[in-house]
Amino acid sequence: MKHTVILIPFLILLIALALPAHSVQAAPVVPTLSVEVRPQELAPAQAGYVFVSGGYPLRVSVTLDGRPLAVYWTGDGYLAPFAFDFDTPAGEHPIVVLASDPTTGAQVTYRQTVTVTAFQYPREEVSIARRLAALLDPLLNRNEEDWLAAVYTPRSNSTDWGWPFALPVPGEWITSKFGGDRTYNGGLWRAYHTGVDFRRAVGQPIWATASGRVVAVESLNVRGNVVIIDHGYGIFSQYAHISEAYVTPGQYVQRGQLIAAAGATGRTNGPHLHFEIIVNGIPVDPLSWMALMPGFVPPAEVPRERDQPIEEGTGS
Ligand SMILES: [Zn+2]
Repeated sequence: MKHTVILIPFLILLIALALPAHSVQAAPVVPTLSVEVRPQELAPAQAGYVFVSGGYPLRVSVTLDGRPLAVYWTGDGYLAPFAFDFDTPAGEHPIVVLASDPTTGAQVTYRQTVTVTAFQYPREEVSIARRLAALLDPLLNRNEEDWLAAVYTPRSNSTDWGWPFALPVPGEWITSKFGGDRTYNGGLWRAYHTGVDFRRAVGQPIWATASGRVVAVESLNVRGNVVIIDHGYGIFSQYAHISEAYVTPGQYVQRGQLIAAAGATGRTNGPHLHFEIIVNGIPVDPLSWMALMPGFVPPAEVPRERDQPIEEGTGS
C-alpha cells in the first residue's frame, strides 16, 4: 500500500515526461524555448512565419535558403514572416533558427524544411471593356507595380498586431480567387491575379483586415482608388477599386474599422473589392494567410461553370 502511494505520482510524472510538450509544429529546442514554423508545406505565392518563444533574453536569427529573414520582437516572442513568389519552383527550402542567450552564451540551432508544392494557378481569360483597354499597357502596369513596391518597402513594428486577420467584407461571395494566371483581351497583357475579389456594390462598406497604420490613399490606373495599411513586420493589406476612402495616410486603424466604400474605379468592368495581402513585398494568397489562424472559415465562392467568362466586375 505504501509503495502504491509513492508509485502512482511517480508513474504520472513518467507519463508526463514521455508526452510531447508541444504540438507537432512547435518543437522544443531547450526546455523553455520553442520554435514554430507554419505552414511547413505551401504553394507559390503563399506566406508563413517562424515564431520563437519561451526563453529570454535572446538573440534570434532566422535564415531561409541561407538568406536572413527580418526578425521582430512581438512582445511574446520573435516573429519572422516568410513568403514565396509566384515563380518559386517546387522544392524544399531550409529554415535555420539560431537562438542565443547573451548572458550565458548558450546557443541552440533549430532546422526545419519548408516545402513549396508544384501548384499551378489556373489560366483565366479576362475581357476588359474597350474603353479601358489603354490600361493594359505593359509600361503603365509595371510603373504601378514599381510604385506599390516602394510603398511596401519600409519595415515597422506593431504595437498590437495579432491574429486573426478579419475578412474585409462580410464573409461571403468571392467572385474571383487569388492567383489566376490571366490573359487580358486575347493577349494584350498577362499577369497573375494578385488579390482576391469580393462581390460589393458601389458604396458598400470595407473594413480593415487588422490593425495598422494607413500608409497610402491613392488613385492608381489599374487598381483605381486604393487604401494601403501597414500592419507591421513587413505585412501590408491593400483595398482596390474603392469609390471613397474614409481614412488618411498616417492614421492608425483597428481591425474591423470602416475604412472605405466599394466602387468600380480603375481597370474593372464593374464594382467589387480587390483585396491583397503583401508579405515581405510579395503579394500572397490572402485566404491562406488568414487560414494560418486556426478556426478560420473561408468565404463562399460564386459558382462558375467551367469555361464561363470571369464574372462581370472582375478587372484586376
Ligand atoms: Zn482582383
